[in-house]
Amino acid sequence: MRDLAALPKAHLHVHLESTVRADTLAELADHHGVEVAAHAGPFEGFEQFAAHNGAVRDCLRRAEDFSRIAYEFCAEEAAQGTRYAEVTFTAAAHGERLGDPDMPLEAVLAGLAAGQTAHGIECRVIVDHPRKRSVARFEESLRLAIAHPQVVAIGTAGAEDYPLTPFAAVFRAARDAGVGLVHHAGECCGAPSVLEAVTVGLADRIGHGFRALDDPDVVALLRDRAVPLEVCPSSNVALGLVESVSSHPLPLLMDAGLIVTLNTDIPASTGTTLTDEYRLLRDELGFDDDTLAAIALNAVDASFAPEDTKTALRQDIATWRAGS
Ligand SMILES: [Zn+2]
Repeated sequence: MRDLAALPKAHLHVHLESTVRADTLAELADHHGVEVAAHAGPFEGFEQFAAHNGAVRDCLRRAEDFSRIAYEFCAEEAAQGTRYAEVTFTAAAHGERLGDPDMPLEAVLAGLAAGQTAHGIECRVIVDHPRKRSVARFEESLRLAIAHPQVVAIGTAGAEDYPLTPFAAVFRAARDAGVGLVHHAGECCGAPSVLEAVTVGLADRIGHGFRALDDPDVVALLRDRAVPLEVCPSSNVALGLVESVSSHPLPLLMDAGLIVTLNTDIPASTGTTLTDEYRLLRDELGFDDDTLAAIALNAVDASFAPEDTKTALRQDIATWRAGS
């Protein structure tokens, strides 16, 4: 049986604010006088999760706080055999909250730069935007992305029943600027939210997306346009959206011919790691190593990584598969 920690992995859907180590969070909370539970999951629904997130954000105030969690993210990911990560960060919200638009993102990029060098991992950033927040803040997210080449995409998160149409001009501007678009959809809301993310949102990838299965036409659209899905089984279970990993619709998405990638989303809250997610597919869903390698390859193909990074990762996944 092959070692899943050694499988070279690309990690495409993970929120930096939901990766903070428990001891780091406790230290920052103490320093800033914030009350926050170190390990809050599983949650009684999305609102409780959002409240926890708010407390974690409140622990992030100084540039050194952001740099530290970014650096530690690199260490944690490298230990899981992640070779390339696109980490999501709500940069414009932190900038607005702290009255310093560029500091949070630049501090994260500095932490990632140091972490990449120390831990032999390559990272990029996706700047996300809660849908209920202003169009102006989403425009600010795009400004940050264009100003920092390490930001490969922007996208929307949060209430999936809140329409994407107000942001349509920003989506077009992002596409014209060569900035990727990645939206959360089909997690809490149904197939229409996935359809909207592809048509209005011009999505290069969908965060979650598993509820597309409710509508064969939306499944066909995803398949025809080859839009990859960032599937996050343990997150879905922790938020009460799916009963268990063994009953997760991930195999149905693959059977439908969709491009499935595997991700952790909120690892500090679920206690999972990317290696754990691959192990769960092996143990709970009976996936063999060929299938797990194919899923790892999907993430490489679906990433915004430079071509030489993709080539190296593909070769190393094949080497892992050829081993025993
Ligand atoms: Zn997410």
